[in-house]
Amino acid sequence: MKNLEKQSKRFLEILVGVLGDERAALHEPNFDESEIRKVEECIRSGYVSSVGAFVTEFEQELKSITGSNHAIAVSSGTSALHISLMLAGVKPNDEVLVPTISFVATANAVVHANAIPHFVDSEETTLGMSPEKLREIILKLDFKNGHLYNGQTGRRVSAIVPMHTFGNPLELEEIIKIGEEFDLPIVEDSAESLGSFIGGRHTGTLGLLGILSFNGNKIVTTGGGGAILTNDDYLAERARSLTTTAKTPHPWKFHHDSVAWNYRLPNINAALGISQLKKLPSFLIQKKTLHLKYLDAFCEEFEYSLTTEQKGNQSNYWLNSVRLQTPDDYLLDAILETTNKAGFGTRPLWDPLHTLPMYKTAPRGDLTTSTKLAKSIVALPSSPFLATRT
Ligand SMILES: *Cc1c(COP(=O)(O)O)cnc(C)c1O
Repeated sequence: MKNLEKQSKRFLEILVGVLGDERAALHEPNFDESEIRKVEECIRSGYVSSVGAFVTEFEQELKSITGSNHAIAVSSGTSALHISLMLAGVKPNDEVLVPTISFVATANAVVHANAIPHFVDSEETTLGMSPEKLREIILKLDFKNGHLYNGQTGRRVSAIVPMHTFGNPLELEEIIKIGEEFDLPIVEDSAESLGSFIGGRHTGTLGLLGILSFNGNKIVTTGGGGAILTNDDYLAERARSLTTTAKTPHPWKFHHDSVAWNYRLPNINAALGISQLKKLPSFLIQKKTLHLKYLDAFCEEFEYSLTTEQKGNQSNYWLNSVRLQTPDDYLLDAILETTNKAGFGTRPLWDPLHTLPMYKTAPRGDLTTSTKLAKSIVALPSSPFLATRT
C-alpha cells in the first residue's frame, strides 16, 4: 500500500516536472479567430450542408498532406471504416481481423458491415497489431476455393484492419506482406495518426484503403468527421457514391442507383477543418517537443518506458503513453487516481474489445500481450500547447 502511494506520487512529480502544476486535460482542441472567420464565411455563403466548395478544398488539402490519390470527406471515422470495409469486399457473416486494443469503433464498424470481428493481439513496443500473432491466426485457417475460412466458426475471413495506436505507426510493412501472401485486403484505421509516416509514406495510404477521424479529441478536428483514403480510382468513385445516397451526378435530376448512406461531411465542418489543417505542421512540431520532454523525464525511471516511434517511422504523438515495466492493476489505478485528482487528465488504454459484453464470444487468437498492456499503459496529457507551457 505504502509503496503504491510512493510510486504514484513520484509519477505525479515527473508529470508536474514536464507540465508545471496547472491542470491539463488529456487533449484539447485549439481554436482562434481563423476558425471563427472560416465558419462565418461558410454560414454567410448559405452552403452549410452536404457538398460544397469547402468540402472540395478540405479534400484537396488532405490529398496533399497524405499523398493519397483520393480523399473522400465523410461524417465520422466510424462511417469511413464502415464504407471502407464494404469496399474492401467484406460480406455479411465474414470475419475481419482487428486488434483488441483499439477504440470500440474499429470493431463496431465491422458489425455495421454485417460482419464479425476476430480479435488479434498487439505488440508491446508499438501498441499496434502484432504481425507474428496475425500470422499465427491465419496459419490455422482453412484455404478453400480461393478463400480463407475459420474452421471453428465456418465463416470466411476477408480483411485485416491494423490501427496506429495513439498516432504511433505499427509494423505495417510486415502486415502488408502477410496480406499479400494470403490475399487479404488491408483497411488501415489511421483515425489517430494524421501526420504520422511509415518510411516517408503517410499512414492510411499503405493499404487498399485507409481512414482518418476529425472528432473533437483528435489532432485536428472538424467537430465531427472523417475521411476515406485510397489510391484506387474505382474504389474512390464507389466511396463517393455510397456516402452520397448513391445519387447519380446531374444538375437537376434526382436519381439514385442503389441503397446507400448519407455519410458525406457537411460544408460547415469542412470549413472548420480547413483552418485546422493549416495548423497541423505547428501542432506536429509542438507535439514532438512535448514528446521529447516526456522522454527525457521518464528515461531515468527504470519502472517506466515511453512509447516512441520505431526507426524509419514518424509519429504525430497524438497521445503520449507510458508503460509500466510490470503490468500491475493496482499501481495503474493508483497512478490514474493520483494524477487525475491533481488535475491531470491521464487515462488507461481502452478495455480490450474482446472483454466488452457485445464481443465476449467473438473469435480471437492469443491475446496475452494485449491483456498485459491494458494493465500497464498510462496515456499522458498531450495537447500541443503543453509543449511550451513551462
Ligand atoms: C476516433 C477513432 C475512430 C472513430 O472515429 P469517429 O470519428 O469518432 O467515428 C475509429 N478508430 C479509432 C482507433 C479512433 O481512435
